[in-house]
Amino acid sequence: MITSREEDYLEAIYNLIRKKGYAKTTHIAVELDIKPASVTEMLQKLDSKGYINYRKSEGAVLTKVGYKIGEAVRGRHKALLSLLMVLDVPEQMADKDACNMEHNLHPITIVQLKKFVSFVEHCPKGLPDWLACFREYSKTGKFPDECKK
Ligand code: MN
Repeated sequence: MITSREEDYLEAIYNLIRKKGYAKTTHIAVELDIKPASVTEMLQKLDSKGYINYRKSEGAVLTKVGYKIGEAVRGRHKALLSLLMVLDVPEQMADKDACNMEHNLHPITIVQLKKFVSFVEHCPKGLPDWLACFREYSKTGKFPDECKK
């Protein structure tokens, strides 16, 4: 079994490799906002579990399995971030909470979540009417006239 913390690491390593092409201990520590010493210990653990190849000088390289997990966690994070922002949660909070919510969701929940976000973002008619109404309701606490028709 993989823990939420391990998933966070694999996501952070995945993000760093996409951005920089490599993931060094110091960068992982910054990405996760923790001390480099605790990163080293976890990287050794992730290596022994077969998720990464860890070398002190070069940092972490994802194995095939580790890459798949990092990519999946990133996908869940993005979908949850979008969902929370659709709900008018400010981006910084939404980003933090997405990271807490992205673990332990049922695969079907994730599929439906992604469908919902994709619908809202890519509906050919543009921003759905009900969402515009919700935005106004969220700000004013009152149902806009559009809802009463
Ligand atoms: Mn995350």
